[in-house]
Amino acid sequence: MNQPETPPNTDPPIQPRTKGEESALGAEKTAANGENASGESVDAAQAAAMLGELKREMNRLQREIRLAIQAQLGQMSGRSLGSIDANRELAQSIQEMLDAHGLRVRCNQCGHPAILRVSPRNGASAGVFVFDHTVDGRRTFHGGRISMPEIRLVAKPARKPRGQQKAG
Ligand SMILES: [Zn+2]
Repeated sequence: MNQPETPPNTDPPIQPRTKGEESALGAEKTAANGENASGESVDAAQAAAMLGELKREMNRLQREIRLAIQAQLGQMSGRSLGSIDANRELAQSIQEMLDAHGLRVRCNQCGHPAILRVSPRNGASAGVFVFDHTVDGRRTFHGGRISMPEIRLVAKPARKPRGQQKAG
């Protein structure tokens, strides 16, 4: 006899679900939507509520990602990797990561969203870090220090049709 009669000591998980809702959905599903063969029907209001909830959740995660990246990059500020190739690779890796998350660095000179790049400069063997951005409709480079600037992240601006770019 190897069947112990001890009852399971874990409580069954509580299902936060209202019975009434379920049966109402079940009753509706056949009548409401003929082409919906398998699933339960979801009305527009429910879908909107669901998407709204999802959007809030995504925004929250996005903010967490932004702060996490910013915190890590903060440790690099004031440093240089000592060669222009290494610095370029660093700036490019940062840019790729930011791009994947819809982010840009904020120019610490004018505040516009920018791409961090490393440019060659006379007298700076490892190049200089610049903010590459469009200001007043023109490609502009700000910054120009030999070490990594303080990084602040901002959302990548939505694409605008040409001619509609506002100053400021
Ligand atoms: Zn700028």
